[in-house]
Amino acid sequence: MDPILAGDLARFPDLLTAVRDQAVKVLASLDDRPVALPGEPPSPETLPQQGAGLDGALDRFAERWQDRMSGSAGPRYLGFVTGGATPAAVAGDWLTSALDQNLSSGAGSAAPDLERETVRWLRDLFGLPGTFSGSFVTGATMSNFVGLALGRQWYGEQYGADAAEDGLRNVPPLRVLSGTPHSSIVKATSMLGVGRNQVRVLPTLPGREAVDLAALEAALAEGPAIVVANAGTVNTVDFDDLRAIADLRQRYPFWLHVDGAFGLFAALSREHAPLLDGLDEADSVCADLHKWLNVPYDAAVQFTRRPDLQVAVFRNAAAYLGDPGENPDFMHLTPENSRRFRALPAWFALTAYGANGHREIVERNTAAARRLGELLGTVPGVRLLAPVRMNVVCFAIEGDVPAALRAVTATGRTFLTPTVYDGQPGIRAAFSNWRTTVQDAEEIFETLRHTL
Ligand SMILES: *Cc1c(COP(=O)(O)O)cnc(C)c1O
Repeated sequence: MDPILAGDLARFPDLLTAVRDQAVKVLASLDDRPVALPGEPPSPETLPQQGAGLDGALDRFAERWQDRMSGSAGPRYLGFVTGGATPAAVAGDWLTSALDQNLSSGAGSAAPDLERETVRWLRDLFGLPGTFSGSFVTGATMSNFVGLALGRQWYGEQYGADAAEDGLRNVPPLRVLSGTPHSSIVKATSMLGVGRNQVRVLPTLPGREAVDLAALEAALAEGPAIVVANAGTVNTVDFDDLRAIADLRQRYPFWLHVDGAFGLFAALSREHAPLLDGLDEADSVCADLHKWLNVPYDAAVQFTRRPDLQVAVFRNAAAYLGDPGENPDFMHLTPENSRRFRALPAWFALTAYGANGHREIVERNTAAARRLGELLGTVPGVRLLAPVRMNVVCFAIEGDVPAALRAVTATGRTFLTPTVYDGQPGIRAAFSNWRTTVQDAEEIFETLRHTL
């Protein structure tokens, strides 16, 4: 063994203590360090021929890179929809690396059973019935990809074709219908060979991001399709009427995929849970976990009621791997073959804080968004582009948005991202971090008031 590697092996426990100390420093700095940085990288270095050992690597990281990381794990980072990582989730993630399981199959480990247990818990958390099964993927993009892949397989079947075996060459072009599709839906159609131009963006209700049902019905009358319904849009957290959409299936055949990346957490809020009425009728459902569950990147889950289609699409046939059988290993269900044990951080979070602990995060974040919306509403020149429906404040300002956001980022106190809503440039403030309080929202408002 390389002597430096052998030295690290001999000192592994002490070295982990050093890593822990460094992580503690990082966490302690979250409140004071700049929330986001312009992102100047350090000057490049060449590949080390002679290693520095873990001690040396820790020092080099601290010197060159550590202070250049964003404070996105902290309470005042409101860009995109970015969660942090709760203590239990960090612990689960560290143990994931220490255990280094391969979740492709169950050979020699109960880890896949823990993943199945975690998927069941999440299913219950989101109020999905027991007819749904699921698996972990890297993010909502991959969860949407899997849902659409199943829809594509279903679509082929409508014409007696097997898309997994033959592609879609003998069937009419597959249309993906949605009122406000997330960009990842469009990306998924590209990856699936369906084609970005096959996404039909339908009219929405006046002043809303929810699909106009009459327009949807008219599109469905043209033939089978995949419908992507939204449970929580990124700009205004709008929800499609899932029950009414599902009811259209009595007259038209379609695959119903629900993109609930973060909006599925409405299930935890007494006030917002009714927005998910009809979710149980979906064929596939996407839920992100590195957003509102506050587990470290990267983790999401895909649910479906059609695991048979999932095996048809993702079956990984090879003599040495055997037949998928009755209870297929995860490698026959997901795009990846070798898979990280990314269920473990979620298992830790759910075990440590339960549904109630996570409900409190959702309700507190929602209260913080409301408070910021209320305060911004009092500033002349600032206009809310939509009511604060849940955890996102979407607003317009009089000045130039990119310049204003650069000024906000330069304060180091908070970080927000731009958007375009209904043709108008705007700013989004998205709350999904477990540390954020209503007081943070007030502090963020003070920063914005002096900057915008
Ligand atoms: C964030 C998000 C996605 C994509 O999620 P990733 O985790 O970034 O892949 C998809 N849909 C919605 C509604 C989202 O909010």
